[in-house]
This record gives sequence, C-alpha cells and structure tokens, in this order.
Amino acid sequence: MTVTPRPAPPLPAGLASLEAALKHYYGYDSFRPGQREIIEAAMEGRDQLIIMPTGGGKSLCFQLPALLKPGVMVVVSPLIALMQDQVESLQENGIAATFLNSSLGAQEARSRQNDLLDGKVKLLYVAPERLLNPNFLTLLDEVAREVGISAFAIDEAHCLSEWGHDFRPEYRQLNRIRDRYPYVPCLALTATATERVREDIMAQLQLREPFIHVASFNRTNLYYEVRPKDRNAYAGLLAMIKKNGGSAIIYCLSRKSVDETAARLQQDGIAALPYHAGMGDGDRARNQTRFIRDDVQVMVATVAFGMGINKPDVRLVVHYDLPRNIEGYYQESGRAGRDGDPAHCLLLFNPGDLKRIEWIIDQKVDPQTGEPLEQEQRIARQQLRQVVDYAESTTCRRTIQLGYFGERFGGNCGQCDNCCHPQPIEDWTIPAQKMLSCVARCQERFGMAHIIDVLRGSKNKRIQKYGHEALSTHGIGKDRTVDQWRLLGRSLLHQNLLEETQDGFPVLKLNGGSWEVLRKQRKVEIAVPRQLKRVDSAASASRQEAEQLFDRLRRLRKTLADEQRIAPYMVFADSSLRQMAQQRPQSLMAFGKVTGVGNRKLEQYGDRFIAEIQAYCADMGLETPPAPTGTAAPPARRDPSPLGNTHFATLALFQEGHSLDDIAEQRQIKPRTALSHIASLIEAGRIISRDRLISDADYAAITAAMAELGDSMLGPLHLHLQERYDYDQILIARAFWRQAQPASQPASQPASQPAQPPG
Ligand code: ADP
Ligand code: ZN
Repeated sequence: MTVTPRPAPPLPAGLASLEAALKHYYGYDSFRPGQREIIEAAMEGRDQLIIMPTGGGKSLCFQLPALLKPGVMVVVSPLIALMQDQVESLQENGIAATFLNSSLGAQEARSRQNDLLDGKVKLLYVAPERLLNPNFLTLLDEVAREVGISAFAIDEAHCLSEWGHDFRPEYRQLNRIRDRYPYVPCLALTATATERVREDIMAQLQLREPFIHVASFNRTNLYYEVRPKDRNAYAGLLAMIKKNGGSAIIYCLSRKSVDETAARLQQDGIAALPYHAGMGDGDRARNQTRFIRDDVQVMVATVAFGMGINKPDVRLVVHYDLPRNIEGYYQESGRAGRDGDPAHCLLLFNPGDLKRIEWIIDQKVDPQTGEPLEQEQRIARQQLRQVVDYAESTTCRRTIQLGYFGERFGGNCGQCDNCCHPQPIEDWTIPAQKMLSCVARCQERFGMAHIIDVLRGSKNKRIQKYGHEALSTHGIGKDRTVDQWRLLGRSLLHQNLLEETQDGFPVLKLNGGSWEVLRKQRKVEIAVPRQLKRVDSAASASRQEAEQLFDRLRRLRKTLADEQRIAPYMVFADSSLRQMAQQRPQSLMAFGKVTGVGNRKLEQYGDRFIAEIQAYCADMGLETPPAPTGTAAPPARRDPSPLGNTHFATLALFQEGHSLDDIAEQRQIKPRTALSHIASLIEAGRIISRDRLISDADYAAITAAMAELGDSMLGPLHLHLQERYDYDQILIARAFWRQAQPASQPASQPASQPAQPPG
C-alpha cells in the first residue's frame, strides 16, 4: 500500500507564532533549549551548523521551518531505514513528507515526483548518492523553478569528515550542490562532540557566516550507574529489566556473549532477541523491527546496533562488557531516553574484561608489514584507561563524561550513583597488609585468584600441590568474601600499590608502594560500593492507579500501531501516555491539551483513547464527567478499542458498498487507517458478514494459528503462517475471531494464553 502525501494543512490564521505551529503539528507546548533560535535563524534563510546530542531534538529544527517556508526542503540522510522512519513519523503528524530512494518502484517514484512538482511536498528525504545523480539533479532544477527549494538540511553531517567515526565518501561530494544552488541556505546537523569534525563540516559545505549552535552534551534525563560485574550482576540486571518494563538494549563485546545473554534472558521469561554481524541481513532486520515495534522488550547486541534506529523510548541501556572509550560510551548509552523521559544507563564493570580488550589492542598490527601499530595501540590503551577510571571513580559520573568533551560541569548532578549514593571511604590498611604479605609468602609467583584462595583458607588441589596450607597467611582472611578481596586487590593495582605482569598470565608482584604499606608507612583507603539494594518508596494509591491506566493505554497504543504496521512510539510517546494516565482527559478538548497531541493525532486517535480512559474510570469506579452527547459511544466491556465518529463514517461508506481503498480516498485517510476502522467495527459487532473481507479458507487457516499462538502479536503470527497471509488479512481474521470469543474473555491477552471458549 502506498501513501500519497497530502499537502500540509494550511496554518490557520491564529497560528502566527512559532509556539502555535509547534502545538499544531507536533502537539508540544514549548521548545527545547536552542530550538527556537535555530528555527528563527532558518526562517531568516541563514546557513547553520547545529550540534546537539542525541535526543536533543534536531529534526524539529529543520522540519518546522520547512513547513512554514515556501518551497521544498531537501533533507540528506545517510540511512534508508532512518529515512523511512522519519517520513512515517511525519506522516503520522499529517505533515507532507516523502522520500526518494532505490527501494521504490518506477511508478511509485514517478508519482512522488509529480507530487513534488505539484507543490504537495514540504520535506523530501534523499540519500547523498541520489542527490548527485544527474537525473535527480534535473528533477531538482525543475523543483527549484516550479516550487522552490527552501533549504538543504544535511543530517548526520559528521559523515563528511574523515576525522569522524562514520565517514562516508558520498558526503564529500555534497559541496557540489552548493555550487549548483548557491542561493539556497544549508543546515548541517550532527551529534559529534569534536572540534576538528565541526571545522571540517563548515569548510566542506562552504557555510557562509553560519549561525552556530552547540548545545550542552549534558543529557539531564539519563541516570548513570556503574555496578561490579560479579556473581550477583545478572540477577540484578534481570530484576531491573522486569521492574523497568520498558525497552532495553544490552551491549556485549562479542557475538558469543550476545547469543548467550539473549538465550539466558529468554530462559528467564524475558522477550529478548540477539543482534550482531554474524547473523544474516534478514534476521537482523527482523529482530530490529520486532524491537522497534515493542514485540520484544530487550535487544542484546554488539555496538553495531543502534546507529540506524531512532527508537526514542529506550528506557535502559546496559553495557554488559567494558566500552572501549568514553566517547563511545557516551554515544551508545545515549541511545536511552531520546524522548527526554527518565532513562537508566548501567555499566557492568569487571576488571577481568580489561585483559580481553588489552589483548585485542595488542593485536593491532600494520596489515602490510605486520609491525605493531604502536601509536594506535597507545591511544587505544589510554582511552581504555580513561574508561576504567570512569568506572572506578567515586566522583560524579556526569562530570567525568562532560569533562571529556571539554564541557565544565559543577560537581553534584544528583542523577548518578556516585552523587545519589556516595561510596563511603574506608581504611583497609590491615587487610591490605594481609594480602600483600600473602603475595610475598607465595613468592610473587601466583595470580589474584590463588592468593585469595590462600587468604580464605581453601584446601583445593593447587593449594595442596604447592603446600600453601602451611603458609602463615593461609586462612587469615576468612572474615571477608571473595568479592571483597577482589575489590581490594583491584584497588591496590589501581593505586599502584601492587603490580600484575602483562604477558597474558597475570601474576601479582610487589613494588615500592607495597613495601611502604607492609612497613606501616602508608595507609590504604578504599571506596566501598554500597550494597546493591534499591530503596523502594511505598507507591501511593494514585500512582498505582496511573500505572494501571498507563498499562492499558500502552496496550491500546500497541494495538493501534500493529493495525497500521508502525512503531508504537509513532502513535504517542511514553510521556504523552503518562500524562493521559495522570490527567485522565475525557473530552476531545482536554485530550488535545496533552503534550504530543497535535491536530492530526487528536482527530485520528482522540476518540479511542478517551473511550479507553472512560472505560477505565468506569471499571475503577472513578468519577467520570458526563460525555457530551454525540461523541464516543459507550464502550462494550470486552472491546479493547472503542468506536468513535470516524469509525461510523467509515462504516457508512462500507455499507454503501465501497472498497477499502475507495473509503480511504473519499475520507482522505490512509488505507491502513480505513482497515483499522473496519477491524474495530468487526470486533464491536457492527460488521458481521465476512463475505467482502476474507475467504472462509483464509479465515480458518489464520484463526487456527491464533488458537495456537494467541492473537496479541501480529509479527509472530505472520511468520508462523509462513508469510502466506498479509497483515491486512490477519487483522481482519483477528477481528472476526475476537468477536466470536465469549464476552467474559478479554480480547487481548498474552500469547501464552490463547483465548479459548471455556470447555
Ligand atoms: P535527535 O535527532 O537530536 O536525536 P530527535 O529530533 O529525534 O532528536 O528528537 C528526539 C525526541 O524528542 C523525539 O521523540 C522528538 O519528537 C522529541 N522532541 C523534539 N522536540 C521536542 C519538544 N520541543 N518538546 C517535546 N518533545 C520534543
Ligand atoms: Zn553525578
């Protein structure tokens, strides 16, 4: 099904201010820091360089001017997946955006070109290689003549710098469009932190007296935490994923650990999928889509995952292994909470990981000569050391990260583990003396694990073999756990009071500092991590209520998204749902005030969300203001998505005999919206005959699969049916199937409990 972009609704007269336009198109009440200034500069037609961290809200900075200015804005974006995603999100808001790339058929491409020349498009997304193709340039010339080009927006502009981490040669050629359209302003946008890349962008694109905006890299909604990766780490992580409930990404260093971790989570009942370069393209794309659409909660991945996705509602990013440098950690953990809602970034730190990464670094050799690349190795080691310092630090995590980008941050952020739970510093001189003298007694020939065994009085084979039960230090450390001894050992190493050989067989050695400690010339102080318990404040009744309603609204959002085959976040952001759950708006007017509810979404979803909220209030015996006459029909008890006026308008046309495409055309809605109306009408018992909608054979096959898998997840059903039925057919079949279920059964339920008539 193709979606023809509609011209952007003209701004009503009262919409003169930028704020009014922001609410109209996006439903937001205020601009994020910097957005307003950038938009104003764009309206003046200035060149710009916009540096904002991930989630800062860059897209809006060029989209809103595109809507307000005459002509077409051409957006250059490096990834086809990102392009589709952005265009879909825009269309959800009723904004006339489209893209041209190699994935389109000739006919579709032509129809989009016609729309362009007819002035029906405000934002055109293209890949850089396309932009330089001669045929495309001819088209662009025509667009420039007929409707005008309002600006070029170069997204991910760091791709044109060889000094960046993501260089793409095609981007280098972009300066040619500057020569061809010298009067068209150019906006370059990126999340890069380094000065060198910024300068490169300005030079390459020949920006003229650009307006430069560099936002703070402080992501205030992110909570940073480091935990030891000890034997409790996995259990803690599992509990966190369960409690959090939202989407999570877990980064692992190797493919093997990706697969293992994903499998382990699955065994523990978490919907998790793996993602790494060793998988086929198809599997990777499928897993990614299932994550984006909230079919699964957790993606376990190597760091390659995340560059091409815009999912704004990731609530937790975990580094299961040590990242290689701070900038990488900042960018990867920054994939959490792009929507500005609170999110958690957890780093699990095991000093043992260090050895693995150091080993990888040692393998860096010149492919031609086989000589070690000493400079690169040195840099990599230093970067790794900075990561370790970050992990082991007892000062504010945010201060360390921002300091790395040259940004000063004053002390206590109140949003990291070290600020919220400062680690007590303890004097561990005596245990340190015990450990160091044990190293000496073992003649500096053993590693950490063995020394700890001796201290704890183990009688294992190795100890017996070397006769170490006879040492005076055998068993003098029974009062402490293995983890505590490890903590001490690592800390002595980092304070340079102990050394470890670097040849791959780590053996502990004493040094000058060690002897100072042993001779009582020096104290040993250690930051002792707090116990990993979280204080749960007793949730108040009203908070619980809001949570329950939030869950119901989230389910409705998932249903609506599945019906249209889009990602749930494109329907509404988490923050919008949370606000609905708190305020319980029960009129279109009140609903329209919720943040994220623009005009199009109000029209498209208002009735159904309001009906859900009313149904919830009725169930809970909460006070419900009387519904104004003529709006949403009272919901049937088992109906997950109640009907509104828009459904009845579709029903009238359907009953007159119109096809779905006809209805969509006449009503100026997307075909998949028409389809979702029909599905809701079927479920509500308003359409009873399957005749015009699905054959008996198809219905039987699809519902047989539902009896097995449940009816809540369309993706798995589609796969189970070997992709023989398209989503439209599955939706229609599901609607009839749900209608046929006994009224006492709620219609949507987990896949593990397929709806079955009571035996
Ligand atoms: P970036 O491209 O900088 O990573 P996006 O443009 O994707 O960020 O924006 C991140 C999220 O913030 C999106 O979900 C977007 O809708 C939301 N957002 C942007 N501007 C605002 C605003 N003024 N108010 C509320 N949400 C906003
Ligand atoms: Zn802090």
